[in-house]
Amino acid sequence: MSQFAPTSDQRHTASPPPHLEAWSLPPGWSWGAEAILREHRHYQEVVDALGRSLSLVSAPDPSHDEWLQHEARALAHRNHPSVPTTYHYWASYEESRRGPGYLRRWIGGETVFSRISRLGPDDVPFALQVLREAGSTLAYLHDTGAAHGAISASTVWLTPGGRLWLLGWEWVLPRDQRPAGLQPDAAHTPWPPEWAPGEWRPTPASDQWQLAAMLFTMLTGETPPERAVPPLSLLRPDCPLALGAVLERALATDPADRFPSVAAMLRDMDRHVSVRPVLIAPEGDELPAALDSAEARLRWATADDYEILSPLGKGMFGSVWRARDLSLAREVAIKVLHPHIARDDVAVARFRREARLAAQLAHAAIVPIYDTDSRGDIVWYTMELAEGGSVASLLSRSGPRSFEEIAPQVDEVLEALHAAHTSGIIHRDLKPENILIDRYRRWRIGDFGIAYALGEEGAGTSGTPSFAAPEQLLGEAQGPATDCYALASIVYFVVTGRAPFGDGRAETVLAQQLSNTLPARLLEEGLPGALADWLQRGLAVRVEDRFEDALEMRVAWREVVRAMRRVEDVRPWWRRLIEGGQEDGTSEPPSGW
Ligand code: ATP
Ligand code: MG
Repeated sequence: MSQFAPTSDQRHTASPPPHLEAWSLPPGWSWGAEAILREHRHYQEVVDALGRSLSLVSAPDPSHDEWLQHEARALAHRNHPSVPTTYHYWASYEESRRGPGYLRRWIGGETVFSRISRLGPDDVPFALQVLREAGSTLAYLHDTGAAHGAISASTVWLTPGGRLWLLGWEWVLPRDQRPAGLQPDAAHTPWPPEWAPGEWRPTPASDQWQLAAMLFTMLTGETPPERAVPPLSLLRPDCPLALGAVLERALATDPADRFPSVAAMLRDMDRHVSVRPVLIAPEGDELPAALDSAEARLRWATADDYEILSPLGKGMFGSVWRARDLSLAREVAIKVLHPHIARDDVAVARFRREARLAAQLAHAAIVPIYDTDSRGDIVWYTMELAEGGSVASLLSRSGPRSFEEIAPQVDEVLEALHAAHTSGIIHRDLKPENILIDRYRRWRIGDFGIAYALGEEGAGTSGTPSFAAPEQLLGEAQGPATDCYALASIVYFVVTGRAPFGDGRAETVLAQQLSNTLPARLLEEGLPGALADWLQRGLAVRVEDRFEDALEMRVAWREVVRAMRRVEDVRPWWRRLIEGGQEDGTSEPPSGW
């Protein structure tokens, strides 16, 4: 048995790479900062005229153009939530300045491989969720008469919003649509025992084996041997025996001993492995005493309207779940208020009023609130699902961001802030966890008005103090300036990876703010002058020393962007590559492709 070896079959590349250099994008489009190269395929982030990040898939080797087109065409006809579909194909012809390549949505997040390298073996409920979703994708594929053949920790991709994507579609084509002699790299693809070395023969039964092999790796951190797989219960005593039995059968050496299909494997698992309590909703609004977990309460309360899929996180005021809105057949995020808050009638009434106001804030950089509702003493609201997670999770996954990447995002967020402030709504709880990222990588402010409605009057120290303004930490009057200050702290955090005054207790942060340690910190971080000046003004202790409002802050931000461009332009290209850190960033884990 081999220990999980941390090598990856993908790496970051400078953007755009040589084979895309002569391309010219349509008006209003730009190259994004991220790009990943895998064997035979290049994935380049591009930003369209509407500010959405898309992935441009191309083949560095020109002799693979036809292969690429077959792939784009096949994907365009697939229809499953875990299969990325083709938005558009750029053909290459005489006078075209781009192509061939196809566009699909940008998939933020990481591979199972990167997740295991980062966090070690996974917990059982998470692994089961991956097994269910990847398995359902394979069942769909097998129903269409195809097999995948390259299911591995590098082709299964997980987003912070709790979604799973299956990739590796360049292989899922009839033999005559792929270059002769090419096959997935055995170094990154688990090789089922029925395949001789170097002999790649994908079948639904080999997909089943590969899926089980990936699960085995997720649970143990080790790749399973081809023969005589040790019982999972020996390696993972916390793993339900029934799950071990399912994986063992799927990993059988002889394909005839495996489940007759992946669908049969999933059915068998669902029959014997139960991680979720099965609830039969009783009549009435009285909460059954046995429902003590937040999930059970939420399932009980929303039973007919939403299917609760997986947890997204927990905060000051409630817990957030990914859910399917059953009547509209769309996925949403649902936040259920903590019981002690839900029991406070005054707070709930204010929360309802504020949520109604926030629901009217229609802005591209504000997460829309769809609805608020309650049953018994369970109160929840639904909002758009941010598939990219939060800025906080982005940084903990992939480290500080480049100025170039955040410049347009900060601009939009400032515009949204200004729009909200002119409608009389302040946020009061801006922090990286509350800046969410949508499927196109755009930043959007979440939880508008919620802290204002639910936070204790005047206490001001809601949640983390790291991004709060001095007046908030002192419990003094707060207004739009408090939000502007918080946004400046977030910008500082995003470019340096550290909160401007540390992440200690409120008194410690306040002491740092008041003793004006900022200029020294800015110097220490080595931030460019224009950006440092903007931060210094945004983080001024006295409100009157800060920007007048979000609008003025945005105008000043644009000045910083212009100044940074001038600085960038005088650097030779090779210096930009070295200092920008985007060439072959093997030290930085991939965060999307
Ligand atoms: P606070 O309660 O102060 O807002 P918080 O933002 O950390 O703190 P929650 O708002 O309860 O707490 O959110 C918990 C986590 O759930 C967040 O960190 C975020 O990653 C995730 N989350 C929240 N809203 C959404 C959403 N609409 N889509 C996807 N994930 C979300
Ligand atoms: Mg929040």
